[in-house]
Amino acid sequence: MKKTLFAAFTMTIFSLGLGAQEITTIINQQKQKTMETNKNNSAVNHQFKPLPYAYDALEPYIDKMTMEIHYSRHHKAYFDNFIKAINGTPLEKMSMNELFENMSTLPAAVRNNGGGYYNHELFWENMAPGGVGMTERFEKMLKQQFGSVEKLKEEFANAGLTRFGSGWAWLNVDEKGNLFLSSTPNQDNPLMDVAEKRGTPVLAMDVWEHAYYLKYQNKRVDYINAFWNIINWKVVEERYDEAVVKNK
Ligand code: MN
Repeated sequence: MKKTLFAAFTMTIFSLGLGAQEITTIINQQKQKTMETNKNNSAVNHQFKPLPYAYDALEPYIDKMTMEIHYSRHHKAYFDNFIKAINGTPLEKMSMNELFENMSTLPAAVRNNGGGYYNHELFWENMAPGGVGMTERFEKMLKQQFGSVEKLKEEFANAGLTRFGSGWAWLNVDEKGNLFLSSTPNQDNPLMDVAEKRGTPVLAMDVWEHAYYLKYQNKRVDYINAFWNIINWKVVEERYDEAVVKNK
């Protein structure tokens, strides 16, 4: 289709008897138009990013089939429905943060699908095959704020376990740079104005059944225990640093 159009376009140019310079100008104008169209298209602002590793890369902690269905169907559906919900409305010009800050006033489709899209991006990124360890600095901070790393894990697991139905567990930074744990229902997150306690998430854990049911069935606790083996603490720390700098 593209080739045919291009051929027709070229034919038109030659039949008009234009010189090379004029052709270049026309082509550049076309390119400029395309770039402007893309800039105004929300699908360009919100990208469906590739999974940062293969579907089977988190085995044996998260199985290949769960990852494939989770990413290519659930996550993709949130993304597509989010774009559908904002397309052609003033919302398509707003950043995710702006949307989250005004969430209580926006349609449910934006809250559920925008949250779903964003939360899963964080989740994929804060996992890595075999996990990536934390620095001494971060470990010290966790000890200071939670007593010990074990205590943090225990409390984080508890946030995920006690979330009734579907939702997320979070490690967040507040405005003062202090870390705190929380959980949210459905596809809400701590950036939304509807959240019980607001902050910037640095670690996300999906506790929807679709995240673990194929391998762990009803044993959410086993999935949560396995999760610690695949956390990318480097990404968590980068998010922490970024949030603290932003809040200053
Ligand atoms: Mn999910």
